[in-house]
Amino acid sequence: MHIPNNRVDLVGKEIEYVVDALNKGCVSGDGRYTALSASFIEKKFQIGKVLMTTSATHALELACLLIGLGPGDEAVLPSFTFPSAANAVMLRGAKPVFAEISPLTLNIDPEDVENKITVRTKAIIPVHYAGIGCQMDKLTEIAARKDLYVIEDAAQAVNAKYKNKYLGGWGHFGCYSFHGTKNFIGGEGGALVINTDDGGMVERAEIIRQKGTNRTKFLKGETDRYCWVDVGSSYSPSDVLMALLYAQLENMDRIVEKRRRHHDAYCCLLSKYVSKGLLRIMHIPPECEPNFHLFYILLPNGGLRDRVMRELNDRGVGACIHFVPLHSSPLGQKLGYKPGDLEISQGVSECLLRLPMYTGMTESEFDFVAENLKEVLEGL
Ligand SMILES: *Cc1c(COP(=O)(O)O)cnc(C)c1O
Repeated sequence: MHIPNNRVDLVGKEIEYVVDALNKGCVSGDGRYTALSASFIEKKFQIGKVLMTTSATHALELACLLIGLGPGDEAVLPSFTFPSAANAVMLRGAKPVFAEISPLTLNIDPEDVENKITVRTKAIIPVHYAGIGCQMDKLTEIAARKDLYVIEDAAQAVNAKYKNKYLGGWGHFGCYSFHGTKNFIGGEGGALVINTDDGGMVERAEIIRQKGTNRTKFLKGETDRYCWVDVGSSYSPSDVLMALLYAQLENMDRIVEKRRRHHDAYCCLLSKYVSKGLLRIMHIPPECEPNFHLFYILLPNGGLRDRVMRELNDRGVGACIHFVPLHSSPLGQKLGYKPGDLEISQGVSECLLRLPMYTGMTESEFDFVAENLKEVLEGL
């Protein structure tokens, strides 16, 4: 048997909706399923304006364009994350400044955010790792006091809450991912949530998303032709992909429920090894309602993590590492960082192991993982 770390699972009317989009000739952007997906998210999450995008990466880029981030500006973000947010900052000619994470949740530490703020800081970009919310009350308070924008990288946190409020709805902007590896998939896709309409943000976002044209106004019948009105790009996803996504969104809570069961089973299986002090399992603070995007354990050191990973992989269990911290990556070091600059991020990266987690994991697949995991851990 081989168990992947992640797998695509269809749960509802995916095929029916994709065929329907094709039959209706809706293959480009802003068709019926794009509108259905956006309004579904707006209604369920009770958040700001939702614009579907080609990816979370593009939603982050769009947000950085909207706040006018530019040369001389800085944005504070965690080092323990995927490169998208740092790229979005650097593509605007601004500087990413890496803050440390809390060892308990692996989310950005608000205290270190304060340490990293300078007169050049324009934005904070918190990342909700594993679908567990950052301390958004503290972060939004800091941002308000220092007059900064908050752009949530909620790529992993769709349908997850912090203090009873959906993530992506706390900052000025929220960025979701519907990539094939996430909880709810469109293959490639994302969304930008705009929670503020200061300065006509929504209309500007619609223009940037549509190649710098006022095509959205035209489609709404508010202008008789559309033309080039601003600098923009192409961030609207194919309706075929949004058809796939919409079928997944309709089953959002069922998907989370299935993943919760795998999560609980892992916790049950591993509690013995936690009490022995052999490992730590991911922590969920009481104020967080996660979406069970992934399941991770932390081994005491990098050597043990590598050994457990290798032995599990040899037995056909897809265990894998996660982020190489951005500050110690080749580009981070070119920016002047040294691996020792952010010790918690560096240590976590060396000790973290992700276990298989996907919606459609069967009981016999989980049992196979559990048996092998037990044997490997007993052998340490
Ligand atoms: C997956 C992910 C992204 C990128 O999402 P895309 O939709 O593939 O662009 C960005 N940030 C984080 C934290 C992610 O996990």
